[in-house]
Amino acid sequence: MFDKILIANRGEIAARVMETARAMGVRTVAVYSDADRGAKHVAMAEDAVHIGGSAPADSYLRGDAIIAAAQATGAQAIHPGYGFLSENPDFVEAVTAAGLVFIGPSADAIRKMGLKDAAKALMEQAGVPVVPGYHGENQDPEHLSGAADAIGYPVLIKAVAGGGGKGMRLVERAGDFMDALESAQGEARTAFGNPDVLIEKYIQQPRHIEVQVFGDGERAVHLFERDCSLQRRHQKVIEEAPAPGMTPEMRAAMGQAAVRAAQAIGYKGAGTVEFIVDGSSGLRPDGFWFMEMNTRLQVEHPVTEAITGIDLVEWQLRVAAGEPLPCAQDDLQINGHAFEARLYAEDVPKGFLPATGTLAHLAFPAGARADSGVRPGDTISPFYDPMIAKIITHGPTRAVALSRMRAALADTQVAGTVTNLGFLSALCAHEGFARGDVDTGLIARDLDKLVSQPAPTSADWAQAALVALGLDADLPNDAGFTLWTPTPRSVALRFGEDEQVLRVALCGPDRAEITLDGSTVAADRIAGSWHFDGQAGVAAVRKGDLLTLFRDAGLEFHVIDPLDRAAAAGAGADVIEAPMPGLVKAVFAEPGQAVSAGDRLAVLEAMKMEHSLLAARDGVVAEVLAEAGAQVEAGAPLIRLEAEEDAAA
Ligand code: ADP
Ligand code: ADP
Ligand code: MG
Repeated sequence: MFDKILIANRGEIAARVMETARAMGVRTVAVYSDADRGAKHVAMAEDAVHIGGSAPADSYLRGDAIIAAAQATGAQAIHPGYGFLSENPDFVEAVTAAGLVFIGPSADAIRKMGLKDAAKALMEQAGVPVVPGYHGENQDPEHLSGAADAIGYPVLIKAVAGGGGKGMRLVERAGDFMDALESAQGEARTAFGNPDVLIEKYIQQPRHIEVQVFGDGERAVHLFERDCSLQRRHQKVIEEAPAPGMTPEMRAAMGQAAVRAAQAIGYKGAGTVEFIVDGSSGLRPDGFWFMEMNTRLQVEHPVTEAITGIDLVEWQLRVAAGEPLPCAQDDLQINGHAFEARLYAEDVPKGFLPATGTLAHLAFPAGARADSGVRPGDTISPFYDPMIAKIITHGPTRAVALSRMRAALADTQVAGTVTNLGFLSALCAHEGFARGDVDTGLIARDLDKLVSQPAPTSADWAQAALVALGLDADLPNDAGFTLWTPTPRSVALRFGEDEQVLRVALCGPDRAEITLDGSTVAADRIAGSWHFDGQAGVAAVRKGDLLTLFRDAGLEFHVIDPLDRAAAAGAGADVIEAPMPGLVKAVFAEPGQAVSAGDRLAVLEAMKMEHSLLAARDGVVAEVLAEAGAQVEAGAPLIRLEAEEDAAA
């Protein structure tokens, strides 16, 4: 076994790998960027090496700097995590050439699976069913559109170099093909530097079921399947294992196909073979098709660990150190059911816009596994994936594992940034999901219901007021009644767009009356904790002007300073601001131009995604304040519209 390994990654996965390494007595080396100087993964490692600037291209994608860090610290092997350099065959070759071990498959195996078209051709030869479609070399638009006609609509255009759902377009009708092709190619060229696409039959009512494989270069086994059908825009949201409704026959057929795929390329290490399944007529052994193979550890690997009892990172280290596969296929068994939910800093009502922020408070429930790369006080920066944590629950049955997930999400507390916690909770309460009726369209179909935000009750407003005034804290026992005066104190709070001025009258050490909107809430302290009109108060934190009550997914109030309020009234909705730090990719507005509400005025690239900035109202552009190519801070003014009265004049 290695004495010391370097983890060429950050965040949750770097911390995850270090935990297992530590348990195995293997010392660890972290690498970090400017933004990650104080990050959890740096604090966890025995050694840490600074490798450059905050942008991934300046640090976590710098293979040379990472290899030099391994050599300087005496690490013998490099674990790539996922994302970044994990599926980069040139990096694998450089690691090996430097006399180090790459904890993962060979460069050759990664290359064979790297492009979706070549991988599909290889799998066809190995007798693995592939999605019907065209994955040839001819990229002539007329030829591709002919191929789509032959396959029959609807079809899916996919970037051959694609990943993370990018460069993919669903086309329902022949008339839409050419436009969709052009935009898929454009996105693929920017994201992957390769505009080539393939065309696939779009499977109706699709389910995404993938098989975890593990090889030692000679033999391979599978560790059963994961169902990742709960997706939003082709990105996984909640995963589970095993797949609901899976039959022993289909499991055996999928497992065999996945092992055949791994053995066809002499696979070494952890990998995932992704299949698309036609869910319209139940699960059948002939109803699944190969989509792609991910030649790395997958984000959702913990659900497999939960049902098999195997630590996949331990297996990765052992196999990379030269040991054979730790067990045979027959030794592997499924025990119960597991779920994973991906907790992100994102603004769900604003179209799942990635968010940033400093975590004023972060607490995970006991009784669930929480894999996280951040601690209370850490910052979600604009440079990387805004994942806060993965919450994993296990139970003897699917129903128990799911109810544990509901409870775990209810007890997860995050303050300091908006999150998708409420959305995850709503999903876990979805009836179809509870029945196991999953397909990749579930989220989009029921989106409105899933993203509806809880509104605070008057009891919540009352508690927020008490917390804002610092009156919820424990008071000394001897606080005399004379301290209490009926003179009300007032506080202004905002929840979303809703602003309230509340008046709090203290009527004794254990009683207060809070008035809002003309009605009064009685607050009573019973057995040491406050109750509001009979409803028990919840945990709360205040940091600066941000106040969070941990009911539902966390109710976030802003405490309004009366002075700021006057200043803010001047600004108004005339200015389009950057919602987060990022790069201005394009500006579509010119001074004097008339615009309508909803027009796209600029594109901001941040957190690996492009965000369109829209006109909030009809109007005329007065000023363009940022140009394409500019790096801007959150809140930076980008475009100003003429004030409404000016325009009318
Ligand atoms: P999965 O099916 O495991 O989600 P993806 O291919 O979508 O696989 O991506 C794997 C993970 O790698 C993502 O969840 C993301 O966190 C990370 N990732 C992908 N691309 C990048 C990137 N350019 N920089 C940093 N992390 C990335
Ligand atoms: P990526 O590399 O971006 O992960 P995949 O090929 O794995 O791309 O596809 C991502 C997702 O798109 C799948 O999980 C599935 O939801 C959907 N998808 C892919 N291919 C098909 C298809 N042929 N029919 C229907 N849905 C598909
Ligand atoms: Mg995929």
